[in-house]
Amino acid sequence: MRTSPPGRKRVVIVGGGSAGISVASRLRRAGVGDIALVEPSETHWYQPLWTLVGGGQAPLNGSRRPQSTVVPRGVHWIRRSAEGVDPDARVVILHGGHELAYEHLVLAPGLQLDWGGVPGLAEAVDRDRVSSNYAAEYAPHTWELIRDMRSGTAVFTQPATPVKCGGAPQKIVYLAADHWRRRKVLRDIRVVFVLPDTVLFRVGEYRRILEQVVARYGVEVRFQSEMTAVDGARDSITVTDHARGTTESLAYDFLHAVPPQSAPDWIKAGPLADPASPQGFVAADRHTLQHPRYANVFALGDVAHLPTSKTGAAVRKQAPVVAANLIDVMRGRAPEHRYDGYTSCPLVTARDRVLLAEFDYELRPRPSFPFIDTSKERRDMWLFKRYLLPPLYWHGMLTGRL
Ligand code: FAD
Repeated sequence: MRTSPPGRKRVVIVGGGSAGISVASRLRRAGVGDIALVEPSETHWYQPLWTLVGGGQAPLNGSRRPQSTVVPRGVHWIRRSAEGVDPDARVVILHGGHELAYEHLVLAPGLQLDWGGVPGLAEAVDRDRVSSNYAAEYAPHTWELIRDMRSGTAVFTQPATPVKCGGAPQKIVYLAADHWRRRKVLRDIRVVFVLPDTVLFRVGEYRRILEQVVARYGVEVRFQSEMTAVDGARDSITVTDHARGTTESLAYDFLHAVPPQSAPDWIKAGPLADPASPQGFVAADRHTLQHPRYANVFALGDVAHLPTSKTGAAVRKQAPVVAANLIDVMRGRAPEHRYDGYTSCPLVTARDRVLLAEFDYELRPRPSFPFIDTSKERRDMWLFKRYLLPPLYWHGMLTGRL
């Protein structure tokens, strides 16, 4: 049964991850009051570190902080999950049936990992030989498996759905391969990367480098292919090759699996989902991030249906646009601020090298460092990812300063 609480909040933000907290901080800095944040988790995660956790280069602890330390002062934190939105009545339905009424809504609940989307995957993950950097509880196991491997077949997969950080499924391939190379066991390990695309990366400038990286480690890349089943008892997966129309059983000694991903089920089933998004992501104007039918609703981050790669770096550019456009709308103006699709992926290509891919909707490289040639694998960019980006995230992006 729905119960309506008294009072309509000026702004309700659903999700206190990278996107929700960044927008909340920016609105507070601009003097906006009466903001409620709906977020069930007591922990805030800095997920980009999980690649390095899985690669044995960072502790998991460095990726978490109590949520209470990142919620900006003056924001009313509601420790519950949202389970629906009625945009005509302007209410968010909370777990337990309570309703939270809003004047303006920001949707930022991230995306959903569909472990059940590949038969056998949910049962196999985190057991003996299977891991995934896509969940905090599994990422440390990735490193244990990489560290202990001396020979056999290592299989890494990427699903056919959009994923958060499109580069993450392959970064761990390179971290693992470089570890095995340094240990002088790489020649005894067959490394297979299964990916649905026809190329390693959509931006030509970065793709050419990644092709060299793959060749350097001797990675066998299965293009236009997908893992369609896991048999954890037999340590094998089914690989479907969409180009050839064939399926094949592939035995593994180590499997790093990335699950299919989609909008949270309640978003998918709700009225704000984009009918053009097969995974049910929220409709949003690609430049203003405003919902096409509800002018008082904005979406950003992983949950938004935008033709760019879903990353925290993209959120960093989206959050100021959403905050400024929301203020425009509150003042009765048309939203004027524009997001250009900027996204970035620090592609870890070795244990001490990063290729910093930055690009926009047009897939044009958009380097942020004017005097550094980031079209190469660089050690300073690895140091940047490992040691500079986390404090910039906690102290700059989340506080709305950066
Ligand atoms: P999230 O940060 O996931 O936050 C969503 C929040 O919503 C969470 O706090 C969650 O608890 C909350 N929530 C969920 N359901 C509900 C609900 N029903 N009601 C209310 N709240 C809810 N990005 C980069 O820029 N660079 C990288 O190198 C990089 N590497 C990555 C590596 C890995 C392994 C992974 C998993 C991600 C990586 N990312 C990277 C992606 C980046 O972490 C995400 O794009 C970013 O966190 C998206 O922000 P968000 O706020 O949309 O979602």
